[in-house]
Amino acid sequence: MIPWAITIPLGLYMSKQRFKLIGLTNRLKEVQTNLRQANKALERRANFDGMTGLLSRDSFFGQLDQMRAHKKTNVLMIIDVDHFKDINDSFGHPAGDQALILLGKIFRKTLRKGDLAGRIGGEEFGIFLPQTSAPEGQIIGEIIRHEIENTFFEPYHNMRHVITVSIGVAGVASHEERGALMGNADAALFNAKRRGRNQVALFEPWMSTKPRLVHDKVRDFKPIVAHSNFR
Ligand code: GH3
Ligand code: MG
Ligand code: MG
Repeated sequence: MIPWAITIPLGLYMSKQRFKLIGLTNRLKEVQTNLRQANKALERRANFDGMTGLLSRDSFFGQLDQMRAHKKTNVLMIIDVDHFKDINDSFGHPAGDQALILLGKIFRKTLRKGDLAGRIGGEEFGIFLPQTSAPEGQIIGEIIRHEIENTFFEPYHNMRHVITVSIGVAGVASHEERGALMGNADAALFNAKRRGRNQVALFEPWMSTKPRLVHDKVRDFKPIVAHSNFR
């Protein structure tokens, strides 16, 4: 039999070790949870735009490429805010940010489950509508345009501002290169801008062959021939 003079200190030692082990296990669990959260945050940051919560540019085009490989008729839209610089200049940059956040909310509210919406540039958005014909895409574009025009933006108390957007719509064939289809939607967007903004234009082949003006200079109507805005 082990004398009590040994069993008591041994018992104390064992229970101390057990406590330490429990502490270590808990700490390990905590570290694992923190790591998992950090990974999720990193993934979120890579896939989503931090300001609007829409898909990031890379994620938008990555998902678009996957989806169009499986669906036959699809639509790509490029949406550009009209005179966005004026919003920044009149109400300040933070108010401009709020306008972008509002647009993100409108896209989420208007689009169907399965549609993609991404922020592909500063004040430029991409929308991909799977299993949608070009004329249907044009109608959905019109719904979005109308919704934006009819949603008041309040940059600050008692101040209301109407935001408008121009939208280029293009049908997407599964075999078409991304650069070409972006070029088509971009050419349609350019036409919507040139026709006076706050409108939806459906791509037609002649649009990509005509000499182009630079988007940002449309307001000034400076002709710059064959400018390529293709990505
Ligand atoms: P247009 O109708 O021809 O599109 O005119 P515009 O003023 O919208 O076009 P432009 O490209 O000249 O201006 C875009 C502006 O968007 C310039 C830039 O400072 C602003 N911008 C880009 N990203 C952000 C952002 O994240 N926040 C804010 N507040 N402004 C941004
Ligand atoms: Mg722009
Ligand atoms: Mg703009």
